[in-house]
Amino acid sequence: MEIKRRDCKVIKIGDCLIGAKNPVAIQSMTKTKTSDIDNTVKQIKQLEEAGCQIVRLAVKDSTDAAALKKIKAKTRLPLVADIHFSYRLAIAAIENGVDKIRLNPGNIDKPRQIKAVIGALKAAKIPLRIGLNSGSVRDVVSRKSSMADKLVAACMHYVKMIEKLKFTNIVISLKANNVLDTVEAYRKIAKACSYPLHLGVTATGSVYNGIIKSSIALGSLLLEGIGDTIRVSLTDNPLEEVRAAKCILESLGLRSGGVQLISCPTCGRCELDLISIVKDLETKLAAKEYKQSAHPLKVAVMGCVVNGPGEAKEADLGVAFGKGGGILFSQGKIVKKVLVKNCVKTLLQEINSRKYL
Ligand code: SF4
Repeated sequence: MEIKRRDCKVIKIGDCLIGAKNPVAIQSMTKTKTSDIDNTVKQIKQLEEAGCQIVRLAVKDSTDAAALKKIKAKTRLPLVADIHFSYRLAIAAIENGVDKIRLNPGNIDKPRQIKAVIGALKAAKIPLRIGLNSGSVRDVVSRKSSMADKLVAACMHYVKMIEKLKFTNIVISLKANNVLDTVEAYRKIAKACSYPLHLGVTATGSVYNGIIKSSIALGSLLLEGIGDTIRVSLTDNPLEEVRAAKCILESLGLRSGGVQLISCPTCGRCELDLISIVKDLETKLAAKEYKQSAHPLKVAVMGCVVNGPGEAKEADLGVAFGKGGGILFSQGKIVKKVLVKNCVKTLLQEINSRKYL
């Protein structure tokens, strides 16, 4: 099956193009105080190394806005300033060199203020994300309308105001705090406009809940071709957000490169501690050289002869365990026997020596 991406305008954020056939970009947000320049720069670099392509920073006062200039000078990822309440902070962020700003129509909606921000965006030639959240959406339709309709109506009202200013360098997000409203809102806005869409579910909770909610909502939309950049919001370390986003895109075939690990869930037939082996292998494969490899590589580790040989043969590299040890397969062919204790070491040696990277 091939996903047919929604056709839309292409927008440039720093050196990252999103929209139409461009790859779906991974975003996250720093969780440091933006005014804490050293720690913010450190977190941005960690995010970049993990595979993040666009990073957003909260700008809550003039100290944060001033810090953007120094952060920009010390980092490479496109920076997005997240602005609420103050249009002046938006202008300061733009003047300090960010690559995009996000405005929330729920708290910056005065025509005079919007006009001033749009003027600054035009001068800097950078885009705007119109970012609505269910928690701060203003009612421009009946209060009885569904959350999705409220988000779409408020968004289109704002879009029209901005288009009147002859500005179309726009990205849109409509984040609800649950899967159904989020999916409905994005489906509707995808039909109502031709701007690229930043997908996300807001306030999803901890890693476990957040990844499940985000995977269902973002996965459903991406399967329909909707979505040009994604953020998995988690109440946790932002590196987890990037890891989850990569996994969602890889699962849908929207991102290739790096190592994809296939392992069975284990059951009463399994004669070894496969769970520990897979955890160990996953940790080692998280190293930079494997993560950033442009070559996609499927590695299977399977617990017994029921499905093991089949999955191991299908993968680029695989180990199928059975009684007395495992068999290593490479490109569908048996290579050698592998002892349980050597499984991780052998797989890594094979990956490194066979120029899979
Ligand atoms: S491959 Fe074997 S051990 Fe793994 S889940 Fe299937 S039957 Fe169980």
